[in-house]
Amino acid sequence: MEKYTCKSVGVIGAGIQGVCVGLQLIKKGIPVTIFDRQDPLSTEFKPASYGNAGHFSPYAVLQFNRTDVLYDVPKMLLSSYGPLALKWNYVPRLIPWIVNYLKNFNKKSMLHTAKYMHQILSLSNDAYEEIFKEIDTTNLIDKKGIIYVWTNKNLKSRKLEIKVRNDLGIEQKLLTKKEILDLEPNLNPAFDAGVIYEKAMHARDPHGILKAIFKLFLSKGGKFIQENITNLKQVNDNQTNIKSDKKEYIFEKTVIASGAFSKNLTDQLEENIPLDTERGYHVHFKDMNHLISRPVIFLDRGFGMTPMNQGLRVVGTVELGGLKNPPSKKRIDYLLRCAKELLPQLQTHEDEWLGFRPTLPDFLPILGPSLKNKNIIYAFGHHHLGWTLGAITGKIISGIVAEEKTNLDLSPYSSKRFN
Ligand SMILES: Cc1cc2nc3c(=O)[nH]c(=O)nc-3n(C[C@H](O)[C@H](O)[C@H](O)COP(=O)(O)OP(=O)(O)OC[C@H]3O[C@@H](n4cnc5c(N)ncnc54)[C@H](O)[C@@H]3O)c2cc1C
Repeated sequence: MEKYTCKSVGVIGAGIQGVCVGLQLIKKGIPVTIFDRQDPLSTEFKPASYGNAGHFSPYAVLQFNRTDVLYDVPKMLLSSYGPLALKWNYVPRLIPWIVNYLKNFNKKSMLHTAKYMHQILSLSNDAYEEIFKEIDTTNLIDKKGIIYVWTNKNLKSRKLEIKVRNDLGIEQKLLTKKEILDLEPNLNPAFDAGVIYEKAMHARDPHGILKAIFKLFLSKGGKFIQENITNLKQVNDNQTNIKSDKKEYIFEKTVIASGAFSKNLTDQLEENIPLDTERGYHVHFKDMNHLISRPVIFLDRGFGMTPMNQGLRVVGTVELGGLKNPPSKKRIDYLLRCAKELLPQLQTHEDEWLGFRPTLPDFLPILGPSLKNKNIIYAFGHHHLGWTLGAITGKIISGIVAEEKTNLDLSPYSSKRFN
């Protein structure tokens, strides 16, 4: 039988999923055009893939459909100074997502998510290392591990996390308060203990890494068009049409890698895709990156700090409020308060940024063909782990497009689970 070769692919979105998918497709010799309303090389380009905390976190298998937080969630939502917040005007639109989320709030679903996050997370760093051989990563990546600290208030949750990771064979090293302070002597000891993932690495500049991968894609013959895509459809088994504000384009296959905005496109395909967003924020403290050597996350507060080239990036919180609500000053104030609790020497911040994590109610991404339009392939919904999962998503999706066999069980990532 003749080997199948895809003739052309359009990829909607130049976030980390889109550029990694584009790169892997072009490496297979398939002509690719990436579309984005912003040019990834410009300073206006600020999606989630720009502003995240930069953690490559292959260990982060447990997500928020975890039974231990069930009773804490309502309390957190009612407090305006907690790690979780709600835009009340968005509640009516959020109800279908919440109903679906509650269905996934049980031990079985929690362990299912952990198992299938682990399947792809365990391959994520190796997939990046392959790409890093082809780009100049000088001053873009540090390999000093990632530290999580906590107080003794939520030890039940900490025990659960440690157990699930141990059961999956994930390396973790528990630390006493003293050991944490030996590693990060500038921290104010507002915590009781913690853990280090010694093999974890972090980006000193996520946008810099994305730009380098994008340039590699272009150098291999990939094309980029800066346009906003408004419509798409599968015309037949050999043709998909993508329409922008300006023009219509024809490709054999189309990949939707539009992050939290993907639902605007999937809603045209008559499928139930309960994608919503967990909004998150960052600020920078310029020239303060020397205060810590590696990312430090304070689990009780739901925030973290990463030393980056732009300064000390203080990142976090989850706000349920959709894509259109304006940023919340209270969320920024919360982040500042948390940062100064751990590093009282911090003073003036800059660059207040709001970003959109693309999240499905069972905290697994959707990776695979649309149910009714097999030439339209989904690559979105990576929630808190989309930076970590970019390179492996590129490999998985390019394999699906090229109709290659895989040893991975991809069925848990299908949109079938919602239809
Ligand atoms: C505060 C915060 C901290 C985070 N920290 C981490 C972390 O430390 N580690 C980690 O692994 N993950 C982290 N994440 C998650 C991670 O950043 C995201 O999951 C990931 O960046 C999503 O990548 P993406 O390519 O799917 O989407 P995006 O980065 O959002 O990119 C989507 C692109 O599609 C474009 N687009 C959308 N619709 C259209 C359209 N109709 N036409 C044209 N273009 C379109 C957008 O312009 C955008 O450029 C964090 C997220 C946030 C918000």
